[in-house]
Amino acid sequence: MSEDIPFNRVLNLVPNIVDDVAPGVRRVLADNPGPFTFKGTLSYIIGRGKVAIIDPGPTDVRHTTALLDAVRGETVTHIIITHTHRDHSPGAAPIRDATGAPTYAEGPHRPSRPLFIGETKRLDAGGDPDFVPDHRIADGDVIAGDGWVLEAIATPGHTANHMAFALKGTDMLFSGDHVMGWSTSIVAPPDGSMSDYMASLDRLATRPETVYLAGHGDVIRDAPDFVARYIAHRRGREASILHRLGKGEADIPSLVRAIYIGLDPRLTGAAALSTLAHLEDLTARGLVATDGAPSITGRYRLPP
Ligand SMILES: [Zn+2]
Repeated sequence: MSEDIPFNRVLNLVPNIVDDVAPGVRRVLADNPGPFTFKGTLSYIIGRGKVAIIDPGPTDVRHTTALLDAVRGETVTHIIITHTHRDHSPGAAPIRDATGAPTYAEGPHRPSRPLFIGETKRLDAGGDPDFVPDHRIADGDVIAGDGWVLEAIATPGHTANHMAFALKGTDMLFSGDHVMGWSTSIVAPPDGSMSDYMASLDRLATRPETVYLAGHGDVIRDAPDFVARYIAHRRGREASILHRLGKGEADIPSLVRAIYIGLDPRLTGAAALSTLAHLEDLTARGLVATDGAPSITGRYRLPP
């Protein structure tokens, strides 16, 4: 289904061992592998001496200890969060307690749209409801440390509060879970919004950075081409949905069977939510019709 994107499913890192990934940037892999996290969450350390930590990762004392060991003798001045999923932000609290460094993020976890009556969250990799940043950041904000400067780029879609960060003076961008080298990103309502997600991809497509360091998976080296393929992949998925609906009305399970060939059974729920995300977007654009608001149990058709 994704042969059009040059995924890299190799990441030769030992969990909880610090790795020099680029000049002035270290990374530490958390030991939380899974179908949504690949080998695990990557935490990044920016700078030397006085450093920032991006995405301290899940609640895992081994990972927190590994991060603190990696910066022993240095001062953590900033803890920066790309988004509030449980594999990214809960590690902020113990790092903050240990170092006194304040946290920076767009805001607390929130869905991209109100929940419908009876709607529950279906993903294991859910939101972190406990995280509240010390400093809220907005699109275009600059976070300056000792020898490094990050520019915040609002990239909602995977979550409503997702932020990417460009490392100024370099060709690097921290892309969080918005763009990842090992897989497409999950866009699952109500946390995620496909309309926002596509707009955020279009936004990155206009940026100059060529190297992306993601929340999961290895470094993306030709980022503009990769982002263009990510966009084309989603447009292809849209076309598949419209093609299937051209043959007649369908519910989400039938659409998933028609468009996801060879799907890992563990990802069936995520595929259904991703399809719902596309249907929300297509309905908003008037390209698909349904009864009432788009929902996971709805029936979908081409408009008359
Ligand atoms: Zn995430």
